[in-house]
Amino acid sequence: MAGLVTARVLSDHVDRVRILERDHLPEEAIPRSGVPQGRHAHVLLAAGQSLLDGWFPGLADELRAGGAVPLDAGGLVWRQGGASWTASDLGLCALSMSRPLLETTVHRRLLRQRPNVSIADETAVDGLILEDGRVVGVQVDGAQHRADLVVACSGRHTRFLDLLAERGFPAPEVSAVHIDLACGTRVVPRQPDDLTRAVAIEVDDLACSHRMGRMVPAEGNRWIITLGSFHDEAPPIEPAAYADFARCLPSPLIADVLARTEALTPVLTYRMPTSRRRHVERLDRTPAGFLVLGDAICSLNPLHAQGMLSAALQAQALGRAIARHGLTSPQLARAFYRQAAKVVDAPWRLAAAADFVDACTSGPESVGTGLLNRYLDMVSRACRTSIPVARQTLRVQNLLARPASLMTPAMVVRVLLAARRSRWRRRNPAGREAGSPVG
Ligand SMILES: Cc1cc2nc3c(=O)[nH]c(=O)nc-3n(C[C@H](O)[C@H](O)[C@H](O)COP(=O)(O)OP(=O)(O)OC[C@H]3O[C@@H](n4cnc5c(N)ncnc54)[C@H](O)[C@@H]3O)c2cc1C
Repeated sequence: MAGLVTARVLSDHVDRVRILERDHLPEEAIPRSGVPQGRHAHVLLAAGQSLLDGWFPGLADELRAGGAVPLDAGGLVWRQGGASWTASDLGLCALSMSRPLLETTVHRRLLRQRPNVSIADETAVDGLILEDGRVVGVQVDGAQHRADLVVACSGRHTRFLDLLAERGFPAPEVSAVHIDLACGTRVVPRQPDDLTRAVAIEVDDLACSHRMGRMVPAEGNRWIITLGSFHDEAPPIEPAAYADFARCLPSPLIADVLARTEALTPVLTYRMPTSRRRHVERLDRTPAGFLVLGDAICSLNPLHAQGMLSAALQAQALGRAIARHGLTSPQLARAFYRQAAKVVDAPWRLAAAADFVDACTSGPESVGTGLLNRYLDMVSRACRTSIPVARQTLRVQNLLARPASLMTPAMVVRVLLAARRSRWRRRNPAGREAGSPVG
């Protein structure tokens, strides 16, 4: 995804953009080995959808035609900290689909809309060509592809910064938060009467348990169900034990769907030991003509669903940096890395802070994390009873507002009052629709 949106942005600034992709890119929307996480439930946050719609007019219609399921934020069921809340009328719209449908549709649109972009698949880049301290192209099977700018969007396991370190450039410092996430995903048929909500996301209370579940509707009348554990036994691959694992979540929603239907796939697994950030913004020397972008810079705990949006915002920042400094400027990398750091700072801090709610998480913990988490716990309780708090929280999750906007004096007062109301309602649940914010 980072490569596709970066190519879209670059196509406004250069004569020719060439994407080199290691995998074979299939015509149909099916998972591929270079993106193993693509089999698991992906949520494209509404702000990411609106960026894509701006770059690819008509994309949303094409996704809907491909079977993507429209949902508004009112269709999200969150279960957090032992109670659920649904956010109604929050003014954000999004589509739900499999990751391969999103990727193949954007890929097709990119080639159709931007004649100066081309893709070479089954083309693994294995080296960088350096001349006079500048990257002037890449190597593929011994052949050279020369370019004014090389952008490596090769994911969290990217090797290109290591290759530069071998050639004498400094390697970026790395922050790694050990979350020890193990996922297990099954795809099941979606019945018309399964749920009235378009999407259900459950998040267990990480302070008490180490399990999560996510269920998103996808094209072809399917649910993609991803169960996960942090620092705990992985979701089992044996079907009955998998269903039992779902039964242990704090809400029966996912287990009920699993019990009602025959799954279409076996349990597909994925492990992510760490959230990882490469501090490229701290590099004091980088070669001109080269950048990394996307998960290669910051790969977050997927629970927060911010990876694709973060990649899109980084691509947008790259466009601005090119407009300001020029494509071939030696200043470009540093200017872009500074902007990219601004994009990833907030989600990294929030995600890492939330990860430390789990006492087994280890890694660099920022000062004040405990205090921040206690406040965020109140915010999450306040979301159940206050539309303004829920709306602002959604804006922060969508990276449309800074986390500090949840900490203004007026917001703190709202949060405290709404959190108190929410606690009172949990003790006195009669007479209210469960979990809907009421203003
Ligand atoms: C389990 C899980 C669930 C997730 N859920 C969400 C979610 O709900 N919402 C969300 O926004 N994000 C989610 N993410 C994160 C999201 O998948 C990534 O942030 C997103 O894919 C952006 O990554 P990228 O494009 O930088 O890298 P990738 O998607 O990993 O793509 C890297 C590409 O580079 C290619 N490549 C690698 N090396 C080479 C080479 N040498 N030569 C040529 N090509 C190469 C690969 O084949 C691949 O196509 C999730 C991640 C995981 C692990």
